[in-house]
Amino acid sequence: MADERQPGAGGEARLIVHYGDPVLHRPCAPVEEFGPDLAKLVEDMFASMYAANGVGLAANQLGIGSRVFVLDCEDADGERTVAALVNPVLVLPEPPRELMVGSEGCLSVPGSFEETPRAATAVVEGFDPAGRPIRIEGTGTLARCLQHETDHLDGTLYVDRLPRKARNRALAGAGLR
Ligand SMILES: [Zn+2]
Repeated sequence: MADERQPGAGGEARLIVHYGDPVLHRPCAPVEEFGPDLAKLVEDMFASMYAANGVGLAANQLGIGSRVFVLDCEDADGERTVAALVNPVLVLPEPPRELMVGSEGCLSVPGSFEETPRAATAVVEGFDPAGRPIRIEGTGTLARCLQHETDHLDGTLYVDRLPRKARNRALAGAGLR
């Protein structure tokens, strides 16, 4: 039996824009209305993320400059989190904080992966698509994803955090340079 409530089941996979598209390089605007348009956007975001085999997707990757992201990934213990975050705020531990270096990629720089340092734990506070407050705390891939996706909403891609040589290699690998 099909599960009608599977995130993205009612959505439509849309085109994911690539590094260089201006919508990825400027901060997104806060969501002010929690209604059917937002619900539809979130469904399309899940559908687009799953179609591209991603673990996270920000709204501006679909060309929509709104502060929304979705994710489906595991923490360091293999526990899975599936969530949509609206107007998320990233909270990192106080320095000196533990860092982890691991392979990171992005659907907007397709096919490239580079070793990228991130805080080992991260918290995001925001709202679900119905406007209820939610808080997600993560380690491992989930922590990486929370930082990567909130970065997107601020107009920053992971390649922007890399040394020039690694950034150029990632962009060239994706055919973007
Ligand atoms: Zn990305």
